[in-house]
Amino acid sequence: MKAIVYDDGKKDVSVVDWPHPGEDVSTHVDSSSEYQALVKVRQIGICNTDLEIIKGYVEGYRHVLGHEGVAEVEAVVHTETGQRVAGEISARYVNKRVVVEINCPCDKDGGECGKRGAEFERNHYPRRTVLGIIGRDGLMAEYCMVPLDNCIIVPDSVSDTEAVFSEPLAAAYRVVEQNAVNPDNDGERIAVIGDGKLGLLIAHVLVMSGCKHVCHFGRHKRKLDMVVGTDKVLGDAMPNGALGSFDVVVEASGSPDGVQRAVELLRPMGTLILKTTCSLNIDPESLPNWSRLANDIVVNEKTLLGSRCGPQSVGIELLEDPRTKALVEKMVDHVYSGFEEGMRALEHAGRKGALKIQLKIPRGEEAID
Ligand SMILES: [Zn+2]
Repeated sequence: MKAIVYDDGKKDVSVVDWPHPGEDVSTHVDSSSEYQALVKVRQIGICNTDLEIIKGYVEGYRHVLGHEGVAEVEAVVHTETGQRVAGEISARYVNKRVVVEINCPCDKDGGECGKRGAEFERNHYPRRTVLGIIGRDGLMAEYCMVPLDNCIIVPDSVSDTEAVFSEPLAAAYRVVEQNAVNPDNDGERIAVIGDGKLGLLIAHVLVMSGCKHVCHFGRHKRKLDMVVGTDKVLGDAMPNGALGSFDVVVEASGSPDGVQRAVELLRPMGTLILKTTCSLNIDPESLPNWSRLANDIVVNEKTLLGSRCGPQSVGIELLEDPRTKALVEKMVDHVYSGFEEGMRALEHAGRKGALKIQLKIPRGEEAID
């Protein structure tokens, strides 16, 4: 089958012939899920994480890329026997459109993590694999084998183009799941820094969750205007009275120096949520001064909170709301079609200022009747 694979050893990304995951199930069964789903990919989104992997973010990576996507379940396979199963479980999933929860936990009973709760297990199980990021082929292929427990059925009211956003929306929603904001507090002031894809989704999710005062800092009026219900601050200038005034600041600028401004905006005892991961190859000269940051954090007793993946089922729920549909439609810069356009799609996603680029995987000839 065709797949977009990054080989870190060769520093090469290309469309290649890759083993069909249905041929040898044993290589895909590192999972606590009793069943696996063989899925046929319909449409995928290109994430900054994919672009970082191509730059060497995951050492030794040699897998199919892609963790944002929507697919159709072709078969349900028993994890232990590798046999396709029929019956009720199959009827529930086969031919249904699904999105796939990015974190795939394995051998659940092997550790203490379960005792720390479902969120810990989802995001931090030490032997987890992560779709198209850690130890597992992703969705930029004709087919992919995934734990059935990770499949979330997409309702008819959510299109393919929309469903692809369930993973980044879930990551945005993680801020709410972590109880880092309190929508019941009418006086709470929240700043979101960054008008890239994740910054836009975070600002939107906060408004949707009932936060009353969301102030969105960015560099592009066109992008800031996509999110309804926020105050907007354009450019690098610090508005009067903004310094040290926010209860919560979400740093999603995608740049390591965003953290300096974020700390300055935060009031004493406020919470700074970090969403930006940074390449390790950045020139140290351009990094913020740690002593200055630390002094502010210590003296003003500010809290730093890291934040990563959220529940994709909530991502799908959010996509059923017309307000989310309106936002994500504006965020799609282009949908390419077919593996022959795969490299062009990756190149486009890497252009400065690009928002979401997606790739549709057309049905094979044999599927058209
Ligand atoms: Zn992503």
